[in-house]
Amino acid sequence: MSDKLTPAYDPQNIFAKILRGEIPAFKVYEDDKVFAFLDIMPRAPGHTLVIPKAPARNLLDITPDDLAAVAVVAQKVAKAGLVAFEADGVTLMQFSEPASGQEVYHLHMHIIPRVDGVPLKPAASIKEDMAVLAGHAERLKAALAA
Ligand code: AMP
Repeated sequence: MSDKLTPAYDPQNIFAKILRGEIPAFKVYEDDKVFAFLDIMPRAPGHTLVIPKAPARNLLDITPDDLAAVAVVAQKVAKAGLVAFEADGVTLMQFSEPASGQEVYHLHMHIIPRVDGVPLKPAASIKEDMAVLAGHAERLKAALAA
């Protein structure tokens, strides 16, 4: 979908490639409308991205139905993150268009478990070790299945 608010969706964005299985991801959840996977440059342990399977550039062009589906999974992941990472709270973030800081143009909701007194790492700064991410994905999946 494209309108006056948003440029057209680009199917070559990196999250579309993850959805098509063209590049790997640490999947933590999937249903018919939504996919969730770890951010490879986490701002805190358990930092997860929740995305719609339908093509949507960001908040400005996603359909209400797909946005609702993303929100429901964001809540599930947020609750699981508290358990899996013994967190005290959770930060949600979503960026739409370059002015906001959006870098990947497939809608994604950041779900970041937060521990009292621990600041977020800078955005997209340090690529986490793959073995660490694999362990974090297992912890989140276990909490989501409980
Ligand atoms: P933004 O568009 O500003 O919300 O940021 C995009 C986010 O995607 C950043 O937090 C990146 O660390 C993350 N990211 C970029 N490439 C990948 C990837 N291949 N797998 C997982 N996360 C990614």
